[in-house]
Amino acid sequence: MARLVVMGGGVAGHTAATFAKKWLGKEHEVVVVTPNSQWNWIPSNIWVGVGQMTKKDVVFPLAPVYAKAGIEYKQALATEIHPEGKEGDETPYIVIKSTKEDSKGELEELSYDYLINATGPKLNFDATPGLGNGQGQMGEHTVSVCTAEHAVHANEELKKIFEKAKAGERQKILVGTGHGTCTCQGAAFEYIFNIEHEAKKAGVREMLDIKWISNEAFLGDFGMGGLHMKVGGYTVSSKLFAESLYAERDVDFIIGAHTSKVEAGKIEYELLDGTTHEEEFDFAMLIPPFSGVGFKAFAKDGSDITDKLFLPNGFMRVDAKYDAGAYENWKASDWPSTY
Ligand SMILES: Cc1cc2nc3c(=O)[nH]c(=O)nc-3n(C[C@H](O)[C@H](O)[C@H](O)COP(=O)(O)OP(=O)(O)OC[C@H]3O[C@@H](n4cnc5c(N)ncnc54)[C@H](O)[C@@H]3O)c2cc1C
Repeated sequence: MARLVVMGGGVAGHTAATFAKKWLGKEHEVVVVTPNSQWNWIPSNIWVGVGQMTKKDVVFPLAPVYAKAGIEYKQALATEIHPEGKEGDETPYIVIKSTKEDSKGELEELSYDYLINATGPKLNFDATPGLGNGQGQMGEHTVSVCTAEHAVHANEELKKIFEKAKAGERQKILVGTGHGTCTCQGAAFEYIFNIEHEAKKAGVREMLDIKWISNEAFLGDFGMGGLHMKVGGYTVSSKLFAESLYAERDVDFIIGAHTSKVEAGKIEYELLDGTTHEEEFDFAMLIPPFSGVGFKAFAKDGSDITDKLFLPNGFMRVDAKYDAGAYENWKASDWPSTY
C-alpha cells in the first residue's frame, strides 16, 4: 500500500485526489490536507461580488465528499516538506498544522510515498503598499473577489455605491490589477462587466464612471497574449472583441500599468514609459499579485533546502514541461489517463 498526500484542496488538488482515489482504489491511501472546511468554486465569486449569487451557492463542505470517496481528509495547513525524511528514518513527510476548531494549531508529521503540491497562489496583497494591510491580508481601501468572503464584502460595498449613485452622487469605479506582476486579469474583466450590467439594471449606469486599469499589453490580452474565439462563424481575436466591448459599454481603460500604491480613494501607477500618474476612485476592485504559499523544506540533516525546492516568489520549482518526457516513453495505453 502506498500513501499519496495531496496538499491543497482547490480545483487542482480536489481533482487530483478524487481521480487518484478512483484509479488507485482501496489498495492505496489518498490523503488531502487543506485548511478550509468548505470548498469554493472560485470562478463564480464574480457573481457573488455583484449579488447575483450568495456565498452558499459557491461553497460546499468537503468532509462528506471525502468520506464518501474514501479519501482521508485533514483540515490543516501544510507548513514543511521533508523529502528525505530525517536521520535514522528516510520516510519522506510533511508537517501539518491543524485549522480545525477543536485542535487548532496542533502539529502533526504526515508521511507520504507520493506528494502533490496543489496549494495554489497566496494572495500577495502586501506587494503593493496600501493594497494589503501589512499583515498579509487585504487592506481597507479596495475590495477583492478572490475568495467567497471577499466577494460578499465586495457586493456590500458595491451596493453602497449604487445607493449613492441613486441619490445623485456621481461615483468612480475602478477595476483591474493591483500590481504590475498580476495575473488573473480575466476575473477582473468579468467582474467589471458584471458591475456595468448590474448598474444598468439598477438604473444607475449614467451616474457611474467605470474604468479598467491593468498591466495588460493590450485590451483582451488577459495576461496570456490574447486568444481567438469562434463567434457566428467568424474567428475573432480577443483584442478586437475587448476593444469593441469597452467602446460599446462606455468603459474607459488604462493598460500597461503597474499599480504602485493604494490610498483611500486614490491609486498611484506607473506606465511602461516610466511616467507616474494617479487615479481616483469611490470603489476599487483590484486583483492582488500571486506568490507561493510559503513552504519551508528541509534535508535529512535538518538543513534548510527551501531554495532548492522553491523559487524566490515561493512557487515550487517544476520542470515546466508538463509532459510525459521523450516520445519513446509514450504508450497508447496511457491515454487518456496520462495526457
Ligand atoms: C474571481 C476569480 C475568477 C476566476 N475565473 C476563472 C475562470 O473563469 N476560468 C479559469 O480557468 N480560471 C479562473 N480563475 C482562476 C482559477 O480559479 C485558478 O486558476 C484555480 O482556482 C487554481 O486552482 P488551484 O487548485 O491551483 O488553486 P486554488 O484554487 O487556489 O486552491 C489551492 C488550495 O490550497 C489550499 N492551501 C493553501 N495553502 C495551503 C497549505 N499551506 N497547505 C494546504 N493547503 C493549502 C487553499 O486553501 C486552497 O484550497 C479565477 C480566479 C478568480 C480569483
